[in-house]
Amino acid sequence: MLELRPNCETCDRDLPPTSADARICSFECTYCRVCADGALAGRCPNCAGELVPRPRRPEDKLASYPASTVRVHATASACALTPASTPAT
Ligand SMILES: [Zn+2]
Ligand SMILES: [Zn+2]
Repeated sequence: MLELRPNCETCDRDLPPTSADARICSFECTYCRVCADGALAGRCPNCAGELVPRPRRPEDKLASYPASTVRVHATASACALTPASTPAT
């Protein structure tokens, strides 16, 4: 299940789970549309994978399956490494 991270890793813009402006790579590095289409040119800077629109979770599902509230920043990106929600050993 997608984490649905709450922010853009690059500019820290809020990306609520119902936002149509969220873009993710296969590792779920998350960016806003402006960063993904602009500076990043459709490629994740962490893994070089493609960035695609993040599907929106229906609001009635969010109650049972809430989105992540853990903000992720590029300086501590978990792409291809330990997920941010799991402390490093
Ligand atoms: Zn951004
Ligand atoms: Zn990535």
